[in-house]
Amino acid sequence: MEEKRTEIGDLGEFGLIDRLNKNIKVKHQSTIKGIGDDAAVLDAGSGKVKVVTTDLLMEGVHFDLSYAPLQHLGFKAVAVNVSDVAAMNAIPKQITVSIALSNRFSVEAVEALYKGINAAAEQYHVDVIGGDTTSSRSGLAISITAIGEAKIDQVVYRSGAKVNDIICATGDLGGALIGLQVLEREKQVYLANPDMKPDLEKYAYITGRQLKPDARMDIIHELRDLEVIPTSMIDISDGLASELFHICKASNVGVLIYEDKLPIDKQTFDTAVEFGLDPITCVLNGGEDYELLFTISQEDFSKLEKHPDIHFIGHVTNADEGKYMVTKSETAVELKAQGWKHF
Ligand code: ADP
Ligand code: MG
Repeated sequence: MEEKRTEIGDLGEFGLIDRLNKNIKVKHQSTIKGIGDDAAVLDAGSGKVKVVTTDLLMEGVHFDLSYAPLQHLGFKAVAVNVSDVAAMNAIPKQITVSIALSNRFSVEAVEALYKGINAAAEQYHVDVIGGDTTSSRSGLAISITAIGEAKIDQVVYRSGAKVNDIICATGDLGGALIGLQVLEREKQVYLANPDMKPDLEKYAYITGRQLKPDARMDIIHELRDLEVIPTSMIDISDGLASELFHICKASNVGVLIYEDKLPIDKQTFDTAVEFGLDPITCVLNGGEDYELLFTISQEDFSKLEKHPDIHFIGHVTNADEGKYMVTKSETAVELKAQGWKHF
């Protein structure tokens, strides 16, 4: 009999993780949260926890070295992990760094990568405590694990959103996706005519969003200062709609968001239009912005109301009310989570 073969593309990344997760049983009481959030949560005793998260970046899938400088790549590899620690409302403390290198890379190239890693370690105040180095047949892979700390009652999961909570998004969205479109276009122009110098000045903000994203630890510290603990939180790595779906699923709620409240930068908007893309679709489905999406209870609203970089984009509803966006023409459209597809 022929063995059954299921294509990974049919399940998708999240379907695959769900399927693998079914056969994983947690054995230790100290594993407070295993698979299923931005980071695992481990009991560290005395009312404290450690959070642990890991991300793998593959050349040709997550980055293209023809336009991503190694130094930026090193920074980004750290930032995306710090972002997952932030999404648990925890403070990052240590990272490990593992790299696989082909002989295409020189010592100087690896040093450039580490220049970015070290810059991020300075900025986010984390110690590089180890890793692994191995060879690769082709290309570069970089995997970073970040460890963070929090008090047990400070940890914020995807699962805590309650009906009537206010949905908040930081920064602006869609920029990293449009930045990637610009970089891809300039690469094609260059390949067709290597004498042409790419004109990227005009797109500096959005290409920066793609190449060197910043994790929003500033927001985590501000929330602490203002004594606000979100009811749920996730970082926006796969697009706003996809992250809203994760919160809805984990919290068993619905959401209603408003198109006119979605934060979009002018350069993102204008460049989306230039590419013939709908800016709002880019905001909803663009990946890699590494902003934070969180919910707060109504009573905390006054503490954040005046914050210049936190946007109130809607509210949490009952699960049976579904997931909708009210458009500028005041019609409700159902949200679709396209997410970021690697398969
Ligand atoms: P994020 O985008 O926040 O990094 P992911 O979507 O990558 O989160 O992962 C969701 C959850 O699935 C996390 O808890 C992660 O640790 C877990 N996960 C991802 N891949 C695997 C895997 N191959 N085996 C076990 N757990 C995994
Ligand atoms: Mg995440």
